Amino acid sequence: MSAKRFCVKVYGCQMNVYDADRVRTVLCSRGWQEVSEDEADVVMITGCSVRAKAEQKVWSELGLYEHSWQKDQRPVVALTGCIAQRLGEKALARFPYVRLVAGPRHIGLLPDAIEQVAAHPKSRINLLDTDPREFHALDFDAGDVTIKRENRYKAYVTIAHGCDNFCTYCIVPYVRGRFISRKPDDIFDECRMLIDDGVKEITLLGQNVNSYGKDLGLSFAWLLREVSHLDGLKRLRFVTSLPQDFTQEIVDVMAEEETVCPSLNLPVQSGSTRVLRLMNRKYTREEYFDKVRMLRERVPDVGLTTDLIVGFPGETEEDFEESMSALREIRFDLVHSAAYSEREGTPAATMEGALPVELRLERLNRLNELQDSITLEINRQLEGQVFEVFADDAAPRGNGFLQGRTPQDKVVIFEGGRQLLGKFVKVRITRAEAWCLHGEVIE
Ligand code: SF4
Repeated sequence: MSAKRFCVKVYGCQMNVYDADRVRTVLCSRGWQEVSEDEADVVMITGCSVRAKAEQKVWSELGLYEHSWQKDQRPVVALTGCIAQRLGEKALARFPYVRLVAGPRHIGLLPDAIEQVAAHPKSRINLLDTDPREFHALDFDAGDVTIKRENRYKAYVTIAHGCDNFCTYCIVPYVRGRFISRKPDDIFDECRMLIDDGVKEITLLGQNVNSYGKDLGLSFAWLLREVSHLDGLKRLRFVTSLPQDFTQEIVDVMAEEETVCPSLNLPVQSGSTRVLRLMNRKYTREEYFDKVRMLRERVPDVGLTTDLIVGFPGETEEDFEESMSALREIRFDLVHSAAYSEREGTPAATMEGALPVELRLERLNRLNELQDSITLEINRQLEGQVFEVFADDAAPRGNGFLQGRTPQDKVVIFEGGRQLLGKFVKVRITRAEAWCLHGEVIE
């Protein structure tokens, strides 16, 4: 086999980044060299299909290889991830250089398949998922190999794949298949490998981490406690949580285990029970409020964020006002908001009562304006306070500045040399903005 140079391009969520990092790790352990796109013999593109925009971007990227392929028959392109699951057949038919397509549940077969198309560039391999319960895990013994990742000190670890919830707006169960938990020993081994390699903060990852273990007779609260006890781990987080499965036991672990950070993303999606029903979210507004109360009673300093969709089909002005009042009453630290956009193949895409796009955007603006002022108010109250900040990266603003996060997951920018990277530093907050805090190191 001659081709040994590859490049990976990820367009998508953390799940795709995580999967791509595992494939990179295995290829490097087999002697492949990671190079720039121009030099690569194989380009693996992995992407998200949750938003139509990301799909369009990947599709237009694929077209860009036409020229080099016609010129010297390279690179071979492997399209993977949920985007391949939705558009893989179409890509095989349209682009002669797309030689491999694989769904997210075939990740374990990817390294072999990439080697095969590299060795035989005329071959074509279709590994799209056909059975939503089938799963080919990519487990590997890292040995001397370092798990590839963006950040030296922080890492994600997937604990479950897929989702069984079928929220009516969401494409995930169709492209990532049914829910399946990873075996606890695989999770512990991966966490230990990362800790041995210098990772101090781990985020457990899944579409709905709170369901972890239902298929194994275990619980997420148990897993969280076990991982929090791993030697050398300083901070533990998890994402994403589904409100109906968020339990008192999980809250107890958050309150009792020092390693588990007081931060939570609990997607509300709408403040209106009527809209939540249309979304097939299995909780009411009141039940969501109860979960927040339960959490804040035991973890009073928790940093709480949420995801919220505005302009869902049939959302009335009253429903929207209920989302606004939920923000006023709960006072989230941050809201990841989005105007509803149709995803072909989901029940919501054909529901009656679709709102004009302008109205969706107008509501989104009103909601963001409200939340920005709440976030700023909350952040201003932090001025003068001291936090233990994990300095995990250089700040984007440049030389001499680092960025880190408080236990509550607030971003703090502060002046400091690179010798502080990977360290926990005491920082006093000097100035607050809606998107980040500024501070000075006091210790
Ligand atoms: S819980 Fe709902 S929104 Fe989240 S991945 Fe599953 S179907 Fe999608």
